[in-house]
Amino acid sequence: MGDWGMIERRKTSIVTVGDLKIGSEYPIVIQSMTKTDTCDIDKTTKQIQRLEKAGCELIRVAVKTSEDARAIRDIKKNINIPIVADIHFDYKLALEAVNYGADKIRINPGNINKKSHVNNVIVCALENNVAIRVGINSGSFTKNNSLKQNPEHAMVDELLKYLENFYAQKFYNIVISIKSSDVVSTCSALKRVASLCDCPIHLGITSTGLPEDGIVKSSVGIGALLLDGIGDTIRVSLTGESLLEIETAKRILVASGARYFVPEIISCPTCGRTQVDLISIVRELKQKLGNLKLKDCGKEKLTVAVMGCEVNGPGEARNADIGIAFGKNRGAIFCDGKIVETVHVSYAVDKLISAIRRLIG
Ligand code: SF4
Repeated sequence: MGDWGMIERRKTSIVTVGDLKIGSEYPIVIQSMTKTDTCDIDKTTKQIQRLEKAGCELIRVAVKTSEDARAIRDIKKNINIPIVADIHFDYKLALEAVNYGADKIRINPGNINKKSHVNNVIVCALENNVAIRVGINSGSFTKNNSLKQNPEHAMVDELLKYLENFYAQKFYNIVISIKSSDVVSTCSALKRVASLCDCPIHLGITSTGLPEDGIVKSSVGIGALLLDGIGDTIRVSLTGESLLEIETAKRILVASGARYFVPEIISCPTCGRTQVDLISIVRELKQKLGNLKLKDCGKEKLTVAVMGCEVNGPGEARNADIGIAFGKNRGAIFCDGKIVETVHVSYAVDKLISAIRRLIG
């Protein structure tokens, strides 16, 4: 763990994917994957544009045919984020995807493992400055017996052995991932591999289920690794709406102290001491602060505490950049640890917004 509230990242090599850099010197990248048929260019492009607007920084598309590979060329014309071609079984599709402009290839040692095929992909990626993610997934892992006996070791050993071929050809533009639907196995495997190589790591828990389950599994798994400094890109996989994957990824990064996007609200759960409608106040504040992007106001982090009474209220409000601790019908606004004014509850949200605007200038 680094300074109070900040994670200390594991040192990694730096990977270049189009205009994007991945690794410990750069912010943790938010990824997603399209859920459309890739060769439906219009639908796929529109889905990527929506994800990009929501904060997706790297997008993966399934390439299962030559037509999908060809679609990358047209999709790229109308998006602004790098594109990753997800390849399984047929290494020739990786070559085609690179030819049509993929910025990164994801290959799976579980189904592309003939040395001459892998070498062809490496040479093609080298010649075109394309990155490769080597991603092992427990669902397509071939050594099922060893997986049952010791899943972490089996997947890590397989991955490291696979990488030897890349290093032999001086190919280092590599991101790695090991995914499983089991949170504990994924975390153990990634902690082990993180100590054995310096490649940037892509984090995700796979096949997590519907959002109500998947959000919790992803938060626990990705969050635990981030707190240990592991992880350079993340994808939340949900059996559901893609935009929710991006929103959840952002929330995990904020909760882990890895990245901030909008002001963070700290608010108490309310209890028998609360004398105002704190839930409505926080909802209104969150909605009004949603448009205030930290990058636009030059702040890395901004915390706003909204607390229901004098028990924990003044302490949290003092520790935040801006805070309010309510009593009966009134609240004391704190700025940089000091009370600057007391306001009636009906003006509280607007007064807080004004105080935030004064703070960020
Ligand atoms: S801050 Fe006060 S109102 Fe809020 S939960 Fe704690 S004791 Fe209850």
